[in-house]
Amino acid sequence: MKRAKRLIALLLAAALVFSLTACGSSSSDTTDAADDTTSAAAETETTDASAEEETDEAALYEQAAGNTYVIGTDTTFAPFEFENDEGEHTGIDIELFEAIADEMGFTIEWQILGFSASVAALEANQVDGVMAGMSITDERKEKYDFSDSYYDCAIAVAVAEDSEIESLDDLAGSKVVAKTGTTGSQYAEELAEEYDLELLYVEESSVMYQYVASGQAVACFEDYPIVQYEIARGNVSCKVINTSEYSYPTGMAVLSGNYPELVAAFNEGLARLTEDGTYDEILAHYFE
Ligand code: GLN
Repeated sequence: MKRAKRLIALLLAAALVFSLTACGSSSSDTTDAADDTTSAAAETETTDASAEEETDEAALYEQAAGNTYVIGTDTTFAPFEFENDEGEHTGIDIELFEAIADEMGFTIEWQILGFSASVAALEANQVDGVMAGMSITDERKEKYDFSDSYYDCAIAVAVAEDSEIESLDDLAGSKVVAKTGTTGSQYAEELAEEYDLELLYVEESSVMYQYVASGQAVACFEDYPIVQYEIARGNVSCKVINTSEYSYPTGMAVLSGNYPELVAAFNEGLARLTEDGTYDEILAHYFE
């Protein structure tokens, strides 16, 4: 009897290990696997541990309530942030973070600086965080703490709509433009050698599109949903000829170790707004 029990326990443990490796890292998967396969005692322990974690997390994010955070953002990076027809600076980043702040009881003071300027301001402690369609990359994770991701972006290469260029091969030997310090510029740098590209850098996405329109550059590098949005609303006459095979998650960043309560409050707020449909509603303002 004892032996049989031990065997069952072993089998269950093996099943647990298997299901954990097979399921990836989502926490709900892990919890399901534990519920299905562990003994009642172990289950109670798991529940206790996660309840404790939840309390710690709540104690942390509650510290954000009542605070004001200075947040750097981009100028024109529609639909994440841009000036609308009424002259208001709005977009997914602005609406989403404002909704999170409302939900979690803190206030945001926006600083519209541009992307690389926001990152520089973060490093100089002139802003507390950056919310600017910022890609979460391994390199950046060494310097910044990121919130959970709220979007995924691949990088697009776009040329003028009437251009005859249809592929990276056609682009070889051309002048191209990217925005300083972005993952788009990184992708351009990756391709520059292989395709013999001359790379120009500018500070604003809008300037990048002007370069392509005026022929100062043949192609630009931008997050795919951004350039696609601008094309769809008739703001830029470009077409996408290539997208990166990889895409990046997007998050709010603070300097490593700073404002952990803000990151926790962002994540909790994002989870609540995803659950209650607000996140989808905000996206629906920009994407059909
Ligand atoms: N997602 C890109 C990056 O993080 C571009 C961000 C931006 O231009 N606002 O590098």
